[in-house]
Formats: sequence, structure tokens, C-alpha cells
Amino acid sequence: MAETLSISENLVAESNLPQVDFNNIPFGRVYTDHMFVADYVDGQWTDLRIEAYGNMSLSPANMALHYGQSIFEGMKAFKDADGNVLMFRPEENAKRLNRSAERMCMPSIPEEIFLSGLKRLLEIDGDWVPNLEGTALYIRPYMFAMDEYVGLKPSLNYRFMIFCCPVGAYYSQPVSVKVEEEYSRAASGGTGEAKAAGNYAGSLYPARLAQQQGYDQLIWTDSIEHKYIEEAGTMNLMFVMDGELYSPALSGTILPGITRASVLQVAEEWGVKVHVGRLAVETVIEAHRAGKLQEVFGVGTAVTVSSICRIGFRGEDFELDMENRELSQKIASYFESIRYGKQEDTHGWIEKV
Ligand code: PMP
Repeated sequence: MAETLSISENLVAESNLPQVDFNNIPFGRVYTDHMFVADYVDGQWTDLRIEAYGNMSLSPANMALHYGQSIFEGMKAFKDADGNVLMFRPEENAKRLNRSAERMCMPSIPEEIFLSGLKRLLEIDGDWVPNLEGTALYIRPYMFAMDEYVGLKPSLNYRFMIFCCPVGAYYSQPVSVKVEEEYSRAASGGTGEAKAAGNYAGSLYPARLAQQQGYDQLIWTDSIEHKYIEEAGTMNLMFVMDGELYSPALSGTILPGITRASVLQVAEEWGVKVHVGRLAVETVIEAHRAGKLQEVFGVGTAVTVSSICRIGFRGEDFELDMENRELSQKIASYFESIRYGKQEDTHGWIEKV
């Protein structure tokens, strides 16, 4: 990572840190002192800066608000026992942001700017990374259109920003999911594999309907036949059937999760038979009926591993045995221990700030 980029700094006189009760942090509502900002003007990224976290001024005709050129990333930093701040595969987030940018007709941001800005921000606000068990600093890099123009075309100017939120220990409860067969999150040829703001807006209404029916989240299915499993909420999905691990292939409609890729790699290294391909809902339901569906779980940055205890499909509920979560618990504890620096990171996934 080059250290030569020029990033100006206008730091706060007094930190808000003493006002934060680290034993009681509501998710996503507490922000660190600073944010990183860069502007894309006249075809170039310029004015790289770290300044106080705070409101900014936007034109009422800001194009991101009207036409949705807005993409983001989600990542976490952790503190090890010696107080070092550790990041998990940050360059993968930089790459994914740029793939999202291409799909949304936005400029790419040099990885060097993304990673140097992030590193400098974490150096400055490093004390905000909590060190209690299970806690982390949630990091939100994002980019959006900045042109003031009422007409549909790609914006010429953009802003890239990173801000951070300390997050408390998250003891993930098993979740119930409903297989969605009416609405779709993404269509073939659409924007599903981009981390674009609008994908999330479109998911809210079907998710609310599922919640009204007593489920926590949805399992999205393909938009054509509603036959094949895609992903859930902000997680990619994994199924253990007959001792083997199954996960839907990246079809263009699924977000390519960094946790997903890492979990599949590790499982293979452990000698688990891994199947990545099209996975029909019927296959999973039949496995359940035959007593062969052992574990279902979601994987993603927010919770690492989230167990699924119940699947609703066509009005019928299929319960999972929460006593038997051998593989998902092994995965959760492996990732927990490398992220907090408790176990050697043999893959080179952890980067120290
Ligand atoms: N799917 C969706 C739709 C998501 O928003 C996320 C979170 N980024 C994931 C899957 C998991 O991706 P990751 O492991 O990179 O957090």
C-alpha cells in the first residue's frame, strides 16, 4: 500500500470518544470523530481529506438522489489483544466497489486511494475500535453522484467517502426465513451483483411482508422460475446436506460476498466436499424431508455466520435442528479467531493498520 498519497487533515479539537458507553452501543448510530472524503472532478480524484464527521451540503438536484448512482461497501476492523487494529481482506472491498462502479456507470477509484484513506482514517480514529469480545468497528465506504442536473445521464462528478461506527457485541440469534416466490431482488442482466443502493431499497417491501408473516428475512429465488435459491437479506447462503456443503453459484444476480468466498475456501481446505452451483428450493426441502438437511446458515460481514432455524416454503415451516451446527460453528469460531488475531492467519487475509 503506497503511503505517498497526499491526504489533508483537518482534525477535531476534542474527541467524542469519552461520551461513548462501549458496553451499550446501538448498531449504526454512533460515529467516530472523522471521515475520509475524496471528490471526482474533471475526470480526476482530488482533494483527498480527513475531516470531522458531520453533515454535508447537497444540491436539491443532486443526481444520486433522483437516479440512484450510489454504491457502497461494508467492512469491519477488529482489535487484537495487543491493541493492533486489524482489517479483513480490505482490498477485496476496494475491488468490489469498483465492479459496482462499472455497472452503475461511475468512475473507478484507485485502490490506493481507497486503502490509504481507510488506513489513515483508522490510524486517526483507532481508539474507537472497541476491544471487548465480539465487538468491532463497522466501516462504510461509499460513492455517489454529485452533479446538479435534472435529466437522466451519468453524472460527471462524484464523491467517495468512508465513515465508521463502533458496534457492540452481536450475539446472533438463529433467524427464520421465508422462501420468496413472488418478488425478486435482482433479475438476470440487472444490478444484483453490484452493491448498489437501489437493490436494498427494492428489497424492503417484500421483507416487510415476510416480517408481517412472522419471518425475520427472505430467501430470494431467481426472478424467472422462482425455483433456485439466491441469497438472503445481506447474507449469502450455505446448506449442509448429508455432510456436504452447498452454496448457490454467483449468477450475476447475487452479491459476491467476501465472507462467502472465504468460507468456501476454508471449508474446502478442511476437506469438506463443497458444491457451488444452481441449488433448487425443492432439493433443500426434499433433503429436509429425508432427514439429510443438517445446517442452513447465512454468511456476511455483519454477523459472519447466522444460523437459520426455520424455513417457510409455500405455507409450510421446516425446522432445523439447532443442536447440530457443527460446521457453521467451526466456521464462526475460525473466522472469529483470525479476525481478532488469536490464531495465525495462514491465508494472508488480515491486514494490520
Ligand atoms: N449479500 C448481500 C445482498 C449483501 O449486502 C452482503 C453484505 N455485503 C452479503 C451478501 C455478504 O457479503 P460480505 O461477505 O462481503 O459482507
